Amino acid sequence: MVDILEVKNLKKYFKINSGQLHAVDDVTFSIQKGKTLGVVGESGCGKSTLGRTVLHLLESTDGQIFFDGEDVTHVDAKKLRKLREKMQIIFQDPFSSLNPRMSVSTTIAEPLELSGRFGKAEIGSLTDQLMDTVGLAPRLRNSYPHELDGGRRQRIGIARALALEPDFIVCDEPVSALDVSIQAQILNLMQDLQEKRQLTYIFITHDLSVVRHISDDICVMYMGQMVEKSPSKELFKNPLHPYTKALLSAVPVPNIHKKQERIILKGEVTSPVNPPPGCRFAKRCRYAAEGCQAPQNLTEVSPGHFLACHRYQEID
Ligand code: SF4
Repeated sequence: MVDILEVKNLKKYFKINSGQLHAVDDVTFSIQKGKTLGVVGESGCGKSTLGRTVLHLLESTDGQIFFDGEDVTHVDAKKLRKLREKMQIIFQDPFSSLNPRMSVSTTIAEPLELSGRFGKAEIGSLTDQLMDTVGLAPRLRNSYPHELDGGRRQRIGIARALALEPDFIVCDEPVSALDVSIQAQILNLMQDLQEKRQLTYIFITHDLSVVRHISDDICVMYMGQMVEKSPSKELFKNPLHPYTKALLSAVPVPNIHKKQERIILKGEVTSPVNPPPGCRFAKRCRYAAEGCQAPQNLTEVSPGHFLACHRYQEID
């Protein structure tokens, strides 16, 4: 299967008074068409910045982005407009990402109008189709965001993202603001849409249990860097990085007879401003030892399983 997205050594640094904040630092990955890459990590690890940089909502500092085999790292305004139709985003908080003064149908119709590709009648019928696709009843056409629950608001966000028939969507914590019961509905909807439309997703979340079933591969980010990446099943069965192990220890286990040690991370969090060259997790890692001050490159330790920790074989 072909890779629809390839990202090579991507960096996004922000200049601040005390130096450079390394929000995304040398991240490399690829995604095949129709697949989902889950990106997990704590708040501030750079996962949302990664998604936004891939979409050109933020300008990259260095590295390369290939979409559908074409180098799109630096594109002019015309090319970017075309690219935006193919690459979309679903935001975390549907309420703040929707205009409170726009009705459901106007909100969904907006990207169709802005594209300039459709006449008025066509926009009306496409809007109806999109509402139907995401499970919004026709009676909600003239409703406003504040009249709807979180799940319906997120359905509007999904309809907007789908309007121009994209191939690739960055889903930035799309269910984090929703109740658990509604989370499942939205995840099911997203999986159905993926199957029907061959969509490719980057699914960003801080909650590993959410990405478990939706992701084909998962990458774990810490302080702007990718520290582990593997097929989803393999990551849950055989996590290798101490940080991934800590994240997984917080995921509830359905078997009440199975005891699970919760790993509480202690220690100072390394600053992402001018970070030292070595392992950024070292100050919180209970296995830190000599050699951890050296850069830890992402290395394939078994087929498809990549890791940035030189001590993984010594860690229980
Ligand atoms: Fe821990 Fe060292 Fe591995 Fe970093 S490289 S995760 S500090 S053992």
